[in-house]
Amino acid sequence: MLLEVRNLSVYYYTLSGVVKGAENVSFNMDSGEWVTFVGESGSGKSTVAHAVMNLVPSPGKIISGEVIFEGRNILGLRSEDLREIRGKDITMIFQDPMTSLDPLRTIGDQMIEAMKVHGVSDREAMKRAKELLERVNLPEDRLEYYPHQLSGGQRQRVSIAIAMAFRPKLLIADEPTTALDVIVQDSIMDLLDDMKAEGTSIYFVTHDISLAVERSDRIAVMYAGKLVEIGTVEQIVENPLHPYTKALIDAVPDLWSERPVRAIPGYPPDLREPPSGCRFHPRCPLAAEGLCDVEEPELVEVEKWHLAACHFPGGVKNE
Ligand code: ADP
Ligand code: MG
Repeated sequence: MLLEVRNLSVYYYTLSGVVKGAENVSFNMDSGEWVTFVGESGSGKSTVAHAVMNLVPSPGKIISGEVIFEGRNILGLRSEDLREIRGKDITMIFQDPMTSLDPLRTIGDQMIEAMKVHGVSDREAMKRAKELLERVNLPEDRLEYYPHQLSGGQRQRVSIAIAMAFRPKLLIADEPTTALDVIVQDSIMDLLDDMKAEGTSIYFVTHDISLAVERSDRIAVMYAGKLVEIGTVEQIVENPLHPYTKALIDAVPDLWSERPVRAIPGYPPDLREPPSGCRFHPRCPLAAEGLCDVEEPELVEVEKWHLAACHFPGGVKNE
């Protein structure tokens, strides 16, 4: 097992109240897997992704849980040990590469710096920087460029090149293509596929479930800070067990059919005061009074590999 996340809860202590960004989230990832996390904006995908690296931004706090990476709890490590893991064994890329690139320094400087932190010599780092740019299909002269001189897609290639530097065991990619055109999006996804082919596990985050289908091994669905379903791509697409997953799939437009696109009625809840019982019950077509609004469904294995947190998984009564 590469990664085991157990009962992870992250709260944001804001002036207007405590936002329960993620609550009791548990899942595993195997070496070499591509797992995609989907869910509407605000469902807690980024919160969990950051917590896995112990990088929750203020005013957020990890209030409970464990993140076991190769047998060690990331959340209990000293900062030196964490620094050693980050950027080397686990790397992260973001929707906006500008958040991780320094606007005042050249691409080359930043790539070399990222390697020197982990003990690579100047000469070796320079050599590798050139190779890495080639790997992501950027000409070598981009080393001299500043981030603003590159397009959004090229900047994302640079951040992937930096992420590739040490052949990480895990890449966390938080909506890395959301700001890009469809064609560019695809080429970035291809680069992640290349990383996977070289042994990196991919933890991919997107609000767009259609992006998950082609390349992932498994899909994890989040709703209102909870992990509500996880399974293989086939299980999720062919046999969604949670009504929210089904709604997400029905909301994807299908170019070839006349099937109407069904938006999910209602809105995601305010996570300062999430609904009682199942957090999806106010929007759920299956919700049963006295049960779904009272009792929180646990994430249970309904079939091999396929877990869901619903009192009526697949539309069928549990008992
Ligand atoms: P997603 O990535 O799925 O869009 P997030 O993890 O960003 O969702 O957000 C989960 C919840 O936590 C949301 O209610 C969001 O408003 C809240 N949240 C995220 N970041 C912060 C922050 N820095 N301060 C306060 N609340 C936050
Ligand atoms: Mg996000």
